[in-house]
Amino acid sequence: MSTDVDVVVIGAGFGGIYAIHRLREAGFAVRAFEAGSDVGGVWFWNRYPGARCDVPSLSYQYSFSPELDRDWNWSERFATQPEIQRYARFVAERLDVVGAITFDTRVTAAAWDEGLTGWRVTTSAGETVTCRFLVSAVGALSAAQTPPFPGLDSFAGRALHTSQWPDEGVDLTGKRVAVIGTGSSGIQAVPEIARSAAHVTVFQRTANFSLPAQNRPLSDDELARAKAGYPDRRAATFTTRAGHVIPTTGKRILEVSPEERRAELEKAWEFGGNEFLATFIDTSKDLEANALLADFVRDKIRSIVTDPETAEKLSPRGHPIGSKRICVDTAYYETFNSPHVELVDLRDETIETFTPTGLRTTAGEYAFDTVVFATGFDALTGALTRIDVRGVGGRSLAEEWAPGAQTYLGLAVPGFPNLFTLTGPGSPSVLVTVVIAIEQHVDWVTDHLVHLCSAGLTRTEAEPAARDQWTEEVQAATQLTLHRHAPSSWYLGTNVPGKPRLFLPYAGGLDAYRRICDEVATDGYRGFTMTGVREEVAS
Ligand code: NAP
Repeated sequence: MSTDVDVVVIGAGFGGIYAIHRLREAGFAVRAFEAGSDVGGVWFWNRYPGARCDVPSLSYQYSFSPELDRDWNWSERFATQPEIQRYARFVAERLDVVGAITFDTRVTAAAWDEGLTGWRVTTSAGETVTCRFLVSAVGALSAAQTPPFPGLDSFAGRALHTSQWPDEGVDLTGKRVAVIGTGSSGIQAVPEIARSAAHVTVFQRTANFSLPAQNRPLSDDELARAKAGYPDRRAATFTTRAGHVIPTTGKRILEVSPEERRAELEKAWEFGGNEFLATFIDTSKDLEANALLADFVRDKIRSIVTDPETAEKLSPRGHPIGSKRICVDTAYYETFNSPHVELVDLRDETIETFTPTGLRTTAGEYAFDTVVFATGFDALTGALTRIDVRGVGGRSLAEEWAPGAQTYLGLAVPGFPNLFTLTGPGSPSVLVTVVIAIEQHVDWVTDHLVHLCSAGLTRTEAEPAARDQWTEEVQAATQLTLHRHAPSSWYLGTNVPGKPRLFLPYAGGLDAYRRICDEVATDGYRGFTMTGVREEVAS
């Protein structure tokens, strides 16, 4: 039985764009569906004030094409959301993939059909498309998470989520605004919101470490040097742990004098960005070394925030620096020196209920016109489990993952043949430069499908034993990092009520991960059962 297309790709963010391109290049007929009205994925949706990448622009781009590299010019060291979305559009047009994408359309369900040896994909437009292979490019951070606060329905003001910011923007001039959440999104949004709002109340449950971006325009010289270094950058990209080269002194913080330590950290702070974390090589491994780095940041917070009580509340405690996703900001701590910005520490008081005019905590009432939920995402799994994905025998992926998402290589799930989960749980994805992780995944999946089809086979399915072994490897990799010391984080799923506590990304590094994937391929796609139509019928 033939299918409408060879491959359906879900999502047209950085993953979807590149997947359409590579798969078409390899000869597959591809259709993609995208819920947004343009390409870009998270960079289409996250339009909140201050949204900006915290990986340097020059590293946050595809690496596969010297032509794209040559013809795109970033304007700032850390690009804004609109500029990154323009880049996604530029790439999609250059690769001529836009025509393959149906916009404003969600995939609502996908069911494996054994007779078809393929998937039946249903969309929000009521269309059903059949395909041999299904590639999920739904993104790791795209299922918005709004906590189920009591009384929220009674709130008469406006409620917004940072990742679902209205297209037309929101005028907050003169408004009283509450921001709930102080992760990367909240920390970027608060200073921008405070520029126009009459009053801002920031509700903080956990203080996070944030580093100054020290953002600035990129000069023509810098751009020219970056372009000249393209071949080196490409070569280094896949041999680094993080997906891009991070400068370091190569020294141990525990071995240098207090004067040298301070001088190096001051230099790194002035340089800006999360590269600060790599200044010394022992702070990501050793708790004593890490504590010195954390102390430096807490000192900085105390030196910036004039009210000592507020400074103390903003100072992160209880988790090593870098064990949760580090934040990168522009004037976040400085914003709390403004008289119209107030910090509410939810460790001292807890939210009881929303009211028509604001919310009530155990300590009192807060009135505001607009609430901004910067409360994050059902990360790594939510975007896919919100689709009704049914594998062999009608098995639901959401149910399969309910006890904790387990995959083979972060890419495939037993019982869900011919389905590939780009940057899925169990892959490095969010712990590395995600664009590079995407390229590696798409290249690997394309090669796998070419291998399968060249052998005259039609069905590939991860084996349970391979999944179990990989799950052990993912958890073992976490144990070698400081992540194991963070009591809560979206890496662990603890931000979503009812989600099982399991460290989801693979923390062994992109370089190691790539080697493993390459070995699996060289070994004839070890851990996958690959069969053909004739064999299926015979069995
Ligand atoms: P997040 O890091 O998960 O932060 C969510 C915030 O909401 C946390 O402060 C959390 O507190 C708080 N929160 C959640 N539920 C709450 C509740 N019931 N009551 C009170 N507070 C609650 O989400 P995010 O800031 O959107 O960032 C997610 C990830 O997206 C980032 O870590 C990063 O990887 C990516 N991102 C990147 C950029 C960038 O490149 N610049 C920008 C934005 C986001 P707890 O910590 O106590 O749970």
